[in-house]
Amino acid sequence: MVCIASNTNDATRKVLHKLEVKAKACRRCRLHKTRTNVVFGDGPSTANVMIVSEAPGFWEDQKGVPFVGAAGKNLNALLFEAGLRREEVYIANILKCRPPQNRDPLPDEIEACRQFLEGQISAIKPKLVVALGRIAGRTLLGRYMVMGKEHGRLLDRTYASASFKLFLTYHPAAALYGAETKQRLQADFRKLGSVLKSLA
Ligand code: SF4
Repeated sequence: MVCIASNTNDATRKVLHKLEVKAKACRRCRLHKTRTNVVFGDGPSTANVMIVSEAPGFWEDQKGVPFVGAAGKNLNALLFEAGLRREEVYIANILKCRPPQNRDPLPDEIEACRQFLEGQISAIKPKLVVALGRIAGRTLLGRYMVMGKEHGRLLDRTYASASFKLFLTYHPAAALYGAETKQRLQADFRKLGSVLKSLA
């Protein structure tokens, strides 16, 4: 396992808690009408690695927790490739509420929800953020990108006043589309393991 030192901080927990309470009452975009639960985030406030994905799916919406069920098992297997355990990473989505039928997030929804991800990143101050999928990649980069061309890249990024390394890869669900994408995803996570060792 890759072990990265953490910086315990009660103040961070408090900031995240306040933000979560605010998110649970949020009606800033249309998605509040169709959500079952707000899926704020999951993981230690002291995490040095943050995983940022797109939006909650069906089971996440039901449970209020990101990456549960089969999606959670897939993510855990990929984290294992990188020498990480789920318990040591903080997981968040660009959107905190599920888009109906798992459609792509709309630009105005991403904009409306931006304050929550910004608050999470600025409170946690991760050393490394892993963007899962093009929506997360584009939002965190602030520009258009195609994951097929940029996956596996490590970039320096400042977002919400926090500076960190940004690692780009596919969303784990992309592995369902074919063996080739699954292999690229696994290779990216093995590369991520090497990146983490260099940052430790
Ligand atoms: S997706 Fe974000 S902005 Fe929209 S209602 Fe949910 S918490 Fe609020």
